[in-house]
Amino acid sequence: MTSRPTRSVYTFGAGEAEGSATDKALLGGKGAGLAEMTRLGLPVPPGFTITTEVCTEFYQIGEKLPQTLEGEMRTALSKVEKIIGAKFGDPNNPLLVSVRSGARASMPGMMDTILNLGLNDTTVQGLISRTGDARFAYDSYRRFVAMYGDVVLGMKPESKHAPDPFEVVLLKKKRDRGVDLDSDLDAESLKALVAEQKALIRELTPHEFPDDPWEQLLGACVAVFRSWNNTRAQTYRMLNNIPIEWGTAVNVQAMVFGNMGDDSATGVAFTRDPNTGENRFFGEYLVNAQGEDVVAGIRTPMPINASGGADPTSTLQHLMPVVYKELDAVREKLEKHYRDMQDIEFTIQKGKLWLLQTRNAKRTAAAAAKIAVDMVREGMIDQKTAIMRLEPQQIDQLLHPMLDPNAPRTVIGKGLPASPGAATGRVVFNADDAEARGRRGERVLLVRTETSPEDVHGMHFAKGIITSRGGMTSHAAVVARGMGRPCVVGCGEMIIDSQLKSIQARGHRIREDDLLTIDGVTGEVMVGEVATIQAGGNKEFDELMKWVDGIRRLKVRTNADTPADAQTARNFGAEGIGLCRTEHMFFDAQRILAMREMILADSEAGRRAALAKILPMQRGDFEGIFKAMAGFPVTIRLLDPPLHEFLPKTDEEIRIVAKALNRAPEVVSAKNAALHEFNPMLGLRGCRLGLVHPEIYEMQTRAIVEAAIAVKKAGITVIPEIMIPLIATDEELLRLRKLVESTATKIEEEAGVKIDYRVGTMIELPRAALLADRIAKHADFFSFGTNDLTQMTYGLSRDDAGSFLPGYVEKGIMPFEPFAVLDQDGVGALMIIAAERGRKEKPGLKLGICGEHGGEPSSVEFCHRIGLDYVSCSPFRVPIARLAAAQAMLREQS
Ligand code: PEP
Ligand code: MG
Repeated sequence: MTSRPTRSVYTFGAGEAEGSATDKALLGGKGAGLAEMTRLGLPVPPGFTITTEVCTEFYQIGEKLPQTLEGEMRTALSKVEKIIGAKFGDPNNPLLVSVRSGARASMPGMMDTILNLGLNDTTVQGLISRTGDARFAYDSYRRFVAMYGDVVLGMKPESKHAPDPFEVVLLKKKRDRGVDLDSDLDAESLKALVAEQKALIRELTPHEFPDDPWEQLLGACVAVFRSWNNTRAQTYRMLNNIPIEWGTAVNVQAMVFGNMGDDSATGVAFTRDPNTGENRFFGEYLVNAQGEDVVAGIRTPMPINASGGADPTSTLQHLMPVVYKELDAVREKLEKHYRDMQDIEFTIQKGKLWLLQTRNAKRTAAAAAKIAVDMVREGMIDQKTAIMRLEPQQIDQLLHPMLDPNAPRTVIGKGLPASPGAATGRVVFNADDAEARGRRGERVLLVRTETSPEDVHGMHFAKGIITSRGGMTSHAAVVARGMGRPCVVGCGEMIIDSQLKSIQARGHRIREDDLLTIDGVTGEVMVGEVATIQAGGNKEFDELMKWVDGIRRLKVRTNADTPADAQTARNFGAEGIGLCRTEHMFFDAQRILAMREMILADSEAGRRAALAKILPMQRGDFEGIFKAMAGFPVTIRLLDPPLHEFLPKTDEEIRIVAKALNRAPEVVSAKNAALHEFNPMLGLRGCRLGLVHPEIYEMQTRAIVEAAIAVKKAGITVIPEIMIPLIATDEELLRLRKLVESTATKIEEEAGVKIDYRVGTMIELPRAALLADRIAKHADFFSFGTNDLTQMTYGLSRDDAGSFLPGYVEKGIMPFEPFAVLDQDGVGALMIIAAERGRKEKPGLKLGICGEHGGEPSSVEFCHRIGLDYVSCSPFRVPIARLAAAQAMLREQS
């Protein structure tokens, strides 16, 4: 148990505050903001903040307030009473307070708030005499009783979809009194309503509404601390990686009222436009309203000014010009002070402006880029600060069309967000249909239980991909990211029947041709079409990325298998190819037949004859890629997957192949059976293929070297790097290096041209990492294949883990999915060992990463820290990796 903090309560008011902006961890974002605004001399209602440490202690001692807290609260509240000139619980001049949560990171709407606290049948009389407004006083009272009933005493609707019982009695009262639903009840009716609400609480909960203001206040604090652990907050924390240990603070603050008539109002404003980043004061307000009216969306707020094209006569600027001017001055002061866009909550009570919150505002990626660059130009921040302001994950939004956040939607499933972007299309259940219809220009979504390499063509022609199985490094995920296709994988709640061509999900039945929409950022699958907004080119973002490139040390390459992908990646700033997976090139209809012929051949001569058919096609692929990457290194990996992946599966396929190859179907079936492996991932794959069938690697080397010679002859600089996969022993690499070199030398001599190529290996097996010094003897470079290295380190199958790994993360057994975020402690330790031992043997050994982690920001930072030369990731993640690499450099320098 942590020791009791020395003090639990920090006060603010009348220009003085015990805390400040730097106390965010202790006072939460709201508490720190209130303290700082008070220090700045801004009009903030006085109050105090109970620290986040008290929240931690609250849970440690069994959901109770620490004994000494009440004493500290009483002292703090008496300070507030002095500033306001009213007393808590005073029948003649009562002080009323709000009680609000406030965690270190903002968690909008996740926790609870109580307003108008301190009212009872006696103090309400004091409020009436102080304000001269009985209707207002009773309206405040009934709002308080309802909020208190909900939040503190646990009043709940009978069922999930049943209406709020307090709403029901309010509407009934309006009907009984013949009052229009949009109009207000009179004081007498409101008074009667309060009594009815209290009776409801008595009836539906084991509690009595407490009249004693101190009992009210302590109860409210308990409820706010408890709301730290409600389901909403838990989910939000999980999605945003907010640790449970942080806890929430509680802010107790003198009430100000935006509902005291037409000279009162409440609103929210942003110091710039949070959607576009434009430098204009942006906000909304409601006349004669309390904060929760804005949140509940019962009334539509109006813009504070006409800068966005609103009717000028309805703006705050028009209705209350003096207050607006004051608010505009606050905007300037806060932005200058925080040097970042602020999100401000304000209330106007009878013509007087009060500030209730300021925090760094949430913004779209486009706005984030514009604001960061503009603020550098305005001299508010430097380039380094601007770079640190952008969230690498968020810039995805700038590269893919995204769903309109305001568009309505019906979600029928949620899987893993495998490849970002939004896509709408008609459902098809196989890759051929996807291709045929995609070619005709139709928008289709390919829906599969899982995808195999043979689905690649369909994936290419689909707008998006959904699978019910698989994880973040499953085939569908890797390929979709590479293509920049939005993709949701492992959506287990969708029951997909490809035979019947139907999907069952959350009570919906979807058939072929029905429209679905997917969001590759959230993993959601929705029925019908959901509107998207185009994330187009952004000149501020481009400017920022220039600064980024001037700072980072880590190079960023791409994983690309086609000239088109290579070109896309170049446009995104890739500085070479870190992984070209050659197996994807074999799935083309013509090539797969030659490949099958090769596998089915009984002799080496037969195999060579079949490979000779593939050679020119493969050489053509490489030429295209070398040209697209002119002057940059291109790492080509020799064949890696188990051979049986290329064999025909169904009887029909077997029959077709047998016919084409002039063999009996039984021979093909027998070969299939012979190639069966119990654990193909640990079987005849990777370099083992090259050792067992050297002619395959020979043909590939020939294709690479011949392509390089052709491109060099055309005057283009070419830097091929030939990469051998799945090395476990130095002997494997030594033999294959010799094979590559002797083949290359022969071709160079034939052509009379020398190629400056390198031979290296992937580090994908723990043994290779541990014995990296031996392996480095025969390698010009290492590339960490962290997909396999993660699989082999954890003993977790990357193709099967999707069925239980998400549950692991949800239950907190693992903090994140190790196939998506690099496990720095385990897999990372092996990488450090390999890097150190490899470079000890061969100083200057080039090191990179080409597993999926190469585009994930925290993993990129790790790669920077351990001194890799480059990361390699799918084309659409190249800008993310560039930014993450620059941020890693800046963190190191700070
Ligand atoms: C890896 O294992 O990390 C890798 C890049 O290779 P593949 O994903 O093709 O197995
Ligand atoms: Mg691998």
